[in-house]
Amino acid sequence: MNLTDTHCHLYWNKFNEDRDEVIRRAIDAGVSRMLVPGTTIETSRQAINLAEQYEQIYAAVGIHPTDTDSFSENDIDGFYKLAGHEKVVAIGEVGLDYYWIKDSEKQKLQKRVLSFQVQMAEALKKPLVIHLREASDSISGPVFDDFFELIEPWIKQWKTQNHALGLNPGVLHSFNGDSPLAAKGIQLGFFLGATGPVTYSKTASYREMIKSLPLDRLLIETDSPFLTPVPFRGKRNEPAFVHHIADKISEIHSKSPAEIAEITTANAARLFAWGD
Ligand SMILES: [Zn+2]
Repeated sequence: MNLTDTHCHLYWNKFNEDRDEVIRRAIDAGVSRMLVPGTTIETSRQAINLAEQYEQIYAAVGIHPTDTDSFSENDIDGFYKLAGHEKVVAIGEVGLDYYWIKDSEKQKLQKRVLSFQVQMAEALKKPLVIHLREASDSISGPVFDDFFELIEPWIKQWKTQNHALGLNPGVLHSFNGDSPLAAKGIQLGFFLGATGPVTYSKTASYREMIKSLPLDRLLIETDSPFLTPVPFRGKRNEPAFVHHIADKISEIHSKSPAEIAEITTANAARLFAWGD
């Protein structure tokens, strides 16, 4: 099996006791690439440190929408410097989150911080890792509307300028929207990331949406230490578990787990341009 975990927060304190073992376990389980996205300038730095220590690890740099309070204009130069690092393959994780942030002023701030990071992605020609979460975890609503309204003009412009992001704008990470929103994301050129909930028993509509996706647009990710797949639900998640997500998707799409691993690994290599 040649697996890729396109989203794991390996700097999280839950890995402080056994981080190296966790990473070795993933490599032993056939996970050849892991992408570690930052959520603040500090964790972006930590992601890069891990990428410098392990050949299999790459980093993304960004401010998570629930961490926009940590952002200051004075950080912009620092962010550009970090994001220019050779093992930083994306800008993320960035986006909109109306589940944790209900205040409308703060939601406006999320959009401003997102716009600044889209601009950084454009300048550095690195794709976006996008986090979108609706207020009540519904599968459509203002978060998706606001995001598409913000990003569509950029993508249009990138296409007319033949900018690399016009074809490959990024990934909608842990995507949980409905099938029409998935189709819209794909039409704009995004990949969609599937996570542990695909293995939960009460998520039939989620599996329907996954089934509707063309396989050449699918990525798999653990979002470690969160969203642990069955049979480890309730425990800490780690990148070695990514094969449980591949297994479930192989059932949904009537393919072998090895085929799903190969396809999603090739998709990730295409998006993040990190070679085979
Ligand atoms: Zn995340």
